[in-house]
Amino acid sequence: MSKQCSKCSKNDAIYMRQYSGEFLCKICFVKSIEYKVKRTISKFSMIKNSDRVAVAVSGGKDSLALLNILKNTLRGIDPVLIAITVDEGIQGYRDESLEIVRNFCSKIGVENRVVSYSELFGLSMDRAMEIRPSEKISSCSICGTLRRRAIDLFSESAGANVIATGHNLDDYVQTFLINLFAGDVERIGWTYPSPVEYGTGGLKKIKPLMEIYEKELVLYAIHTNIPFQTEECPYKDESIRSAFRAHLNNLEKIHPGIKYNAYNSILKIAKRLKEFPANTENTTPTTPNFTDKVNSQEHRKCELCNRDSSNKICSVCRTLNILTKGN
Ligand SMILES: [Zn+2]
Ligand SMILES: [Zn+2]
Repeated sequence: MSKQCSKCSKNDAIYMRQYSGEFLCKICFVKSIEYKVKRTISKFSMIKNSDRVAVAVSGGKDSLALLNILKNTLRGIDPVLIAITVDEGIQGYRDESLEIVRNFCSKIGVENRVVSYSELFGLSMDRAMEIRPSEKISSCSICGTLRRRAIDLFSESAGANVIATGHNLDDYVQTFLINLFAGDVERIGWTYPSPVEYGTGGLKKIKPLMEIYEKELVLYAIHTNIPFQTEECPYKDESIRSAFRAHLNNLEKIHPGIKYNAYNSILKIAKRLKEFPANTENTTPTTPNFTDKVNSQEHRKCELCNRDSSNKICSVCRTLNILTKGN
């Protein structure tokens, strides 16, 4: 016999939310996800009335769900939404997702713009993989570095002041563990979710899905009929992230809710680290107002491209140099 929804006590449940013990019908489940995201946006003041929000949409479940949720839930705020898609130049993989994004955007009435690595950096991801001097430079690190810059550049040219990405709760906890195990304590403070302006155009980055489990985003996409790409990138490397992902999923099976507990603890740690950066002896908060620019990151410009960088040469220029000149 099927269980009844614990929220509406009317419909049959389609999902049991293990960490809360709730049984949810399709309608109540979809509503609960949209409500949670709306709450995250307001809790961290992520989006305001006059904002132009560039949503980084790859064609995967997370980013398409994000676009759908923003479109459905921000009626009162009504920011301008633009879907930005990066074409890395991976033959046979990216084409399918470009079409999925194009069709979905036209269905929900959101403008979609596509930018390619070839246009911006003069080389595709396929080409980068051919010419990389060593396998030690991982595909995901090349691609991630170029993608972040592509999204920044394209958002600026689209006149956006907010960049929204589809990172979920699982991603957030994994990133914390990666930074922790790499000894990169400073970075943990940078992940605190209140938007921080950076760059010349005062761009802000937000992650509205950071309080939603990855598993629930898959379900959300299925129950709201969002078509999404399931094929994995051919260059995906078995990074430390995959190991943490598997480990956390195993823990969650035995202890439902453990990822959410970890998320809450990380948030407190990140907030403390943002107030008291790990690389200083300072005992007073450097930035009592979290919407201020981060003081802990030394602001300088890259000598080659003149964009903000914490080193003399930024990571994008360094990556491109290694690929094209081997240094
Ligand atoms: Zn219900
Ligand atoms: Zn540079």
